[in-house]
Amino acid sequence: MRKNIVAGNWKMNTTLQEGVALAKEINEALKGVETKCDVVIATPFIHLVPVVEAVDAARIGVGAENCADKAEGAYTGEVSAAMVASTGAKYVILGHSERRAYYHETAEILKEKVVLALANGLTPIFCVGEVLEEREANKHFDVVGAQIKDSLFDLSAEDFAKLVIAYEPVWAIGTGKTATADQAQEIHAFIRQTIAEKYGKEIADNTSILYGGSCKPSNAGELFAKPDVDGGLIGGAALKADSFMGIITAFE
Ligand code: PEP
Repeated sequence: MRKNIVAGNWKMNTTLQEGVALAKEINEALKGVETKCDVVIATPFIHLVPVVEAVDAARIGVGAENCADKAEGAYTGEVSAAMVASTGAKYVILGHSERRAYYHETAEILKEKVVLALANGLTPIFCVGEVLEEREANKHFDVVGAQIKDSLFDLSAEDFAKLVIAYEPVWAIGTGKTATADQAQEIHAFIRQTIAEKYGKEIADNTSILYGGSCKPSNAGELFAKPDVDGGLIGGAALKADSFMGIITAFE
């Protein structure tokens, strides 16, 4: 059966020293705590090695927030999936709305990134989500369905089964405005149905679908109680060990 996962996305926050200190704090806080979820922290590239070394790999999976859409070569400033994997990281966030919006990542580019991540043994946490105008025009199902189909549906069933999906309504990211638990459940169920239609019920039932967007200790319990919400991708609240722990321990 699918796993519950709480994954922190640090974005472009924390110096190297601050990031390592935060990772150690989370690692300490988890000691002796029985969790009902896997815990992931996704950090800036340069933090990966020391963060991998600072945490107990049995309790915390480390991830990158992006990787290149090319395997290697003359792509100045890029970091490949193989490089990410060589740090000991196990996950990579792909398709975050900030990357789609600010760095013009298209469905085609993301398709390449997913293939390279999988080829290097990384678990992609693939983000989808609509902007406010699309939600208000009731187009969110179409938008999210297309994001999944356009980047992921050329994968074999075996590869698709390795993915984690994160539904992140763009209007809820960093805004303090969370989707209601019912809104999250509705679209998570739609995502699972979309997967089932392509890859079958078993793979759909085994796919972890995380919610992201202003998730915090006070609303995580209600969101995670929904049958198709399998945890969260957490931005702001992942930058403090106590709020991140409050979300990790929010499963009933
Ligand atoms: C995110 O960017 O993945 C996110 C969910 O951010 P926040 O929790 O700050 O809304």
